Amino acid sequence: MSNTPVFPSASLLGYPRIGRRRELKKAIEAFWAGKIDEAALDTAAKEIQLVAARRLSDLGLNEAAAIPGTFSYYDQVLDATTHIGAVPARFGDLRNAAGELDINAYFTLARGTGEQQPLEMTKWFDTNYHYLVPEIGPETNFSLTSNRIVEQFEFAKSNGFITRPYLLGPVTYLLLSKASDGAPAGFSPLSRLEDVLPVYAELLALLAAAGASWVQLDEPALVADQDVPLTEIQAAVARSYEVLTSAAERPAILVSTPFGALSELLPTLAASNIEALHIDAFKGAVPSAQELALLAGKTVVAGVVDGHNIWRNDLAVSAAKLDALKAAGVAVTVSTSTSTQHVPHDVDEETTLSTELRSWLAFADQKVAEVVTLSAHLVDPASSAAAIAEASAVIASRATAAGVQRPEVRARLAALTPASFNRSAFAVREAAQDTALNLPPLPTTTIGSFPQTSEIRSARARANKGVITNGDYEQLMKDEIKRVVNLQEELGFDVLVHGEPERNDMVQYFAENLEGFDVTVHGWVQSYGSRCTRPSILWGDVTREKAITVDWAEYAQSLTNKPMKGMLTGPVTILAWSFVRDDQPLGDTANQVGLALRDEIADLEAAGIKIIQVDEPALRELLPLRRTDQAAYLDWSVNSFRLATAGAVDGTQIHTHLCYSEFGVIIDAIDGLDADVTSIEAARSRMDVVNDLEAHGFGRGVGPGVYDIHSPRVPGQAEVTELLGTAVKHVPARQLWVNPDCGLKTRGYAETEESLRNLVQATREVRAQL
Ligand code: GLN
Ligand code: ZN
Repeated sequence: MSNTPVFPSASLLGYPRIGRRRELKKAIEAFWAGKIDEAALDTAAKEIQLVAARRLSDLGLNEAAAIPGTFSYYDQVLDATTHIGAVPARFGDLRNAAGELDINAYFTLARGTGEQQPLEMTKWFDTNYHYLVPEIGPETNFSLTSNRIVEQFEFAKSNGFITRPYLLGPVTYLLLSKASDGAPAGFSPLSRLEDVLPVYAELLALLAAAGASWVQLDEPALVADQDVPLTEIQAAVARSYEVLTSAAERPAILVSTPFGALSELLPTLAASNIEALHIDAFKGAVPSAQELALLAGKTVVAGVVDGHNIWRNDLAVSAAKLDALKAAGVAVTVSTSTSTQHVPHDVDEETTLSTELRSWLAFADQKVAEVVTLSAHLVDPASSAAAIAEASAVIASRATAAGVQRPEVRARLAALTPASFNRSAFAVREAAQDTALNLPPLPTTTIGSFPQTSEIRSARARANKGVITNGDYEQLMKDEIKRVVNLQEELGFDVLVHGEPERNDMVQYFAENLEGFDVTVHGWVQSYGSRCTRPSILWGDVTREKAITVDWAEYAQSLTNKPMKGMLTGPVTILAWSFVRDDQPLGDTANQVGLALRDEIADLEAAGIKIIQVDEPALRELLPLRRTDQAAYLDWSVNSFRLATAGAVDGTQIHTHLCYSEFGVIIDAIDGLDADVTSIEAARSRMDVVNDLEAHGFGRGVGPGVYDIHSPRVPGQAEVTELLGTAVKHVPARQLWVNPDCGLKTRGYAETEESLRNLVQATREVRAQL
């Protein structure tokens, strides 16, 4: 690079790409269903990009390269995969006649084919966004097989916007990859770095030729502890940016490092010839004077505005961070800590929320305004003094607003003692439960939800619109519960569920029924691909005004002599899938939710429910990215679950359910939950998890899933028998439960019935051999 262009004084790391009214979701799903063609999909995608660019420009991002080119049809990791040609061999050659991976190839990787499973999906750092995991082996051929990001840049440019193209950085790309099926044991995808870099260089040259002044290479993996040794990562970072900065034709390079402090890798990036480095100065700290000295000559893009949560920025605090950076003599500009793809578009759309609550919030568009205000502060503090003072005043008023601190909740938390978190010894509970429940060996059960049919969803929609009365709705749900109970009786299950028809979502349902929460109307965020969720807002002290699930559970229990499970969502999962207040430690908020659930459990017990399941599928999800932070997290998260459940009497059997099979680091924590029975996903990994359980000496009830509910495929009886055969070799039969991997909500009835029938028959077969 001869002349470094100036980096924009205000910018965003990324912007929601699903569209203000989820237009992308609708277009993509219509394309998949064959209702629109590729040209119509392309038109819809362009419209979304244009609307976003105009909006961002109107909000004040009008310098060149200020608008991030973060539009994606499905996923930013998949974008990188299709640009560098990293198609797993199992898919065959997906390139079209022009040698490119076009939109059809792209969706094939995302959605699979009749024969091939799609790329595996996994969580993006500590967010609820999921990316598609690349599969890299010695056989992977890297070459430039798409120039979609170049075309997207050109399209924006032709409409008057010089955007900043986004590419997942090469080191993060390879660190997020898994070894391909055919790779030899111990193969590390990072070993292919030298082959990947030339393709990145080629792409940078094309972007430069198209007129891009800056490109953003995103390297979030550098803020998370990895299994690969640090020295190897340092070498990979140094090598990558040596190669990419020495290309003759390229845009200036911004490396972004969202989700935490860069720590050990800051000096490595500082030593490279990249032109700008983004640091997460919201979750991470402002770098030390020594670190800043290393950054001389580079632009520091300070991510002081949180891109991951929805609270209004404390502009005074951010301004002080920026002042410190400026005083240290570095060239500093303002941005968000992470992409704003993790928050909804616009608070102003949420007219059903109180004005007061709205004034505390900042969604993506409000964050742009904050970034612009802070960049003005750097030039002339007087120009933004009023805005900064207003933010401070609102934040101060939030602290004393009604409902934010409830004395009765605070008093209850303050009065907790170690006994509040402990039940009797398991042996004592086990004996009491054996007497109370009298279950056969290998008891059969399901995880909670039964198929959410279109009839159920339409009844809920009609009740919300007032087309049917609440009484009608309730009756329809009761009819459904009766059907589900009868079906389980007929199939021969030992422990029944009511099927959860009345729940729109396992978190939102509780948010709607607890104080301290609010729900949005348009607050959708992308979860993966075309899937979006609408997280609730947990803004105040949590209380339960009245019982939530008890009437349904009581009704369901009245229909059968078998035990009916009460079904609750655990505190950690409620926090993980909501936007949570930032004004107190998460552990305190989790304990408040824990106390509300504890009261619900007491009411369920009083109503005659003997088994209560508290789901914690998100326990793994919030695990901090740095190992040094993990113990503290596991401590508060496990405690909040124990607080929720420890009020149960010995004879009440507490179940929990976890949705993943990678136990590794958290098996101690799972044991620490002290649930009487734990059901876990296992079918997809062919029961691998029982080895971990055996090695750990897991001593209580456990139900490794024998039916993979993620696809319509029906497991045969022999298959289930075999899985159970494996399980009984590693887990004593008296501890073993038989259940599917997860809830059946997304399945259809035809395959569900057949699969459950096979599950019960297989159990009978294995039982007879015990
Ligand atoms: N009880 C819930 C259900 O069956 C659990 C869902 C989950 O683990 N994600 O739907
Ligand atoms: Zn699950």
